[in-house]
Amino acid sequence: MKKSLWQKDIIKNNFKTLNKDIDTDILIIGGGITGLTTAYNLLNKKYNITLLEADKFFNNTTCKSTGKLTYLQDLKYQDIYNIYDFKTTKLYYEAQKDGIKLAKKIIKENNIKCDLTKTDSITFTTSEKEVTKFDNEKKILDKLSVKYYVTSKDLNTKDIKSLILVKNTYVFNPVKYLNGILNVLKKEDKISIYENSRVKKIKKENNYYVALVDKFKVRTKKIVVSCNYPFFTIPGFIPFKTYMEKSYITATKISYIKNISGITSNYPTISFRYHKDKDENYFIYLNNSSKLCDKLNYKKNYNECVNAAKKITGKQADYKWTNMDVMTNDFLPLVGRVSNEEKNVFIATGYNTWGMTNGTIAGKIIADLIKSNKNKYADIFNPSRGMTLTKFKNFISNTVISNTKAYSFNLLKKNPSWYKNKACVTKINGKRVGIYFDSQGNKHIVSNICPHLKCFLTFNEIDKTWDCPCHGSRFDVDGNVVKGPSCYDIKIDETK
Ligand SMILES: Cc1cc2nc3c(=O)[nH]c(=O)nc-3n(C[C@H](O)[C@H](O)[C@H](O)COP(=O)(O)OP(=O)(O)OC[C@H]3O[C@@H](n4cnc5c(N)ncnc54)[C@H](O)[C@@H]3O)c2cc1C
Repeated sequence: MKKSLWQKDIIKNNFKTLNKDIDTDILIIGGGITGLTTAYNLLNKKYNITLLEADKFFNNTTCKSTGKLTYLQDLKYQDIYNIYDFKTTKLYYEAQKDGIKLAKKIIKENNIKCDLTKTDSITFTTSEKEVTKFDNEKKILDKLSVKYYVTSKDLNTKDIKSLILVKNTYVFNPVKYLNGILNVLKKEDKISIYENSRVKKIKKENNYYVALVDKFKVRTKKIVVSCNYPFFTIPGFIPFKTYMEKSYITATKISYIKNISGITSNYPTISFRYHKDKDENYFIYLNNSSKLCDKLNYKKNYNECVNAAKKITGKQADYKWTNMDVMTNDFLPLVGRVSNEEKNVFIATGYNTWGMTNGTIAGKIIADLIKSNKNKYADIFNPSRGMTLTKFKNFISNTVISNTKAYSFNLLKKNPSWYKNKACVTKINGKRVGIYFDSQGNKHIVSNICPHLKCFLTFNEIDKTWDCPCHGSRFDVDGNVVKGPSCYDIKIDETK
């Protein structure tokens, strides 16, 4: 898969793969911003902690993000206000401010060199239709006593119909940040860390949970599921509360840098920021965001992003990559006890593409719940919060209709359906399979059905992967799972 700009800074860690059965007080599954921040917040206490990462570190959503640490998040406050009320909106705003504060504290206390830079943040639109929404957002920002501006000296505002600018927000390098936290964790005796150790199942045995990683077991009383998208459906019913969004991103070396980052308010989202890295300046540009299941021509989407970036910078991009995140139907993350029954299983997901603040605050919320401390954000983020009519409508349009569309798109394709002569979907012995033809003419045959919730897979010509358009699992051409929520491969026994 294509690497992000940040992933050039990966320092290899060589943690072991889980190779024995172990007992632990707390098991943390997943080493992205959520898992590492949760572990960090649980340190210096009496617990033995085990952290299992499915992949190598830094190959995750966090490390492919744009690394903005901001409380201005498109027009999020009115989205929340329209479903809930001012009190909930205010708590969400305070959570974002606290997320920034906590990340800065972690950086300062541990002297983490992650290129943290103060910038202005803007949300803007080039569409006249969006202007009323900006007026509404400004009213809510006024009520929240947020100081904002409506012009920017750093931006060519010719085509811009409306904008909101706030100060005191930040950008950083997420790989360097996570690496800094991991270095702190590595020094602690009470935490054991494993890479390449994908949890495939959790079972209950008496008063314990047992997490299975191939033939090895981790026995624990408390589990934190911080793997971006939980690999189980029950408890929690996360696929019914969420949908996925995907974007295309480029980073291009340029000669200048500006202290501003921005995002548009409407689809297809455009987002940008600048990054200074030793002697190089980069312009980071994201576009073509869509619901994962809405735009399945990956090559076209990719090229559109690359060409748009070239139009702005006048140069070919140096880095090109894609990323996806979990969106919720009510715009609030799902963080806390997975259900009222499973009081010792905690999840954190659904950051709606704002995980630098939300993942940071999620780590604190979960640590507080484990330590029986009060946390003022626990209620609004509670994964078991109830259904409302608006949420239900969003569920139908975001989750049900979109997933059905993606499912039918793949189902109705002609048989065999070809992806530019490189791969096709067909049936062998009545089973739906995907075949990839490599440059030597060898066939790589895999099942075309995602083991997670049985969606049909689409071939991604850019990364040479089979991708699930419903929940985001990805597999290489030999059928190995490279990204969850699926925990299982799609290899098939060709002799059967
Ligand atoms: C295009 C894009 C740009 C973004 N830019 C920003 C931004 O500028 N600012 C911002 O605030 N947010 C941004 N986000 C959102 C942010 O990146 C995510 O919300 C956040 O990184 C999610 O963190 P996480 O810890 O939940 O997941 P991850 O970072 O994906 O970490 C989860 C980890 O769990 C591991 N795992 C998965 N399954 C298992 C298993 N079964 N067993 C063991 N380990 C497992 C994975 O390998 C992974 O390492 C962006 C998102 C996208 C899509």
